[in-house]
Amino acid sequence: MLNIVIFGAPGSGKGTQSDKLIEHYNLFHISTGDVLRDNIKRGTELGKIAKGFIDQGQLVPDELIIDILAQVLDENKANASDGVIFDGFPRTIPQAEALEQLLADRGTKIDAVVGLEVPEDELIKRILLRGQMSGRSDDNEETARKRLDTYHNQTSPLKAYYEQQGKYRAINGLGSIDDIFELIKDSLDSL
Ligand code: AMP
Repeated sequence: MLNIVIFGAPGSGKGTQSDKLIEHYNLFHISTGDVLRDNIKRGTELGKIAKGFIDQGQLVPDELIIDILAQVLDENKANASDGVIFDGFPRTIPQAEALEQLLADRGTKIDAVVGLEVPEDELIKRILLRGQMSGRSDDNEETARKRLDTYHNQTSPLKAYYEQQGKYRAINGLGSIDDIFELIKDSLDSL
């Protein structure tokens, strides 16, 4: 089993590198952002609640997102894979603590946290570029700046949290997609 958290600011390349990791290590992908966007598209109650937060660049409340994660884990779709990649989760310390408990209850744990480190001006550039293609309602400059503030205030403390556990692997997230993937593989091969 290889359970990985892919960690970083919005625009740091988490989704892109997740795609490559999934294929290379046969992992099951859990992206809380994708789950929320799917709920918005389907017009569910959860989607309606989530949209308000997402469009403001804020986090969806912990209780909601932890419930979603527990549900996805219980669907057991991950059984056919060699592990799970958590993309966009956890984003707060309470979420990280909940994840630890959810995994412990299932007899497993997080093995490594891959932190994609990218300078701020580059993040904004990437988010705006993605917005032109993805049409994501939160990929505009105003919401992007709010999302970065949210990241600094609520999510970035997780770096120290996972460093203390010896799980954080800092990856320079500037460069070509393939070069960054090589750095990630090198850092995971020691596991
Ligand atoms: P993402 O696709 O990971 O960039 O997520 C898009 C948006 O969904 C975020 O800006 C948050 O509003 C919401 N979201 C996704 N994952 C979480 C999470 N783990 N906790 C709270 N909100 C989340």
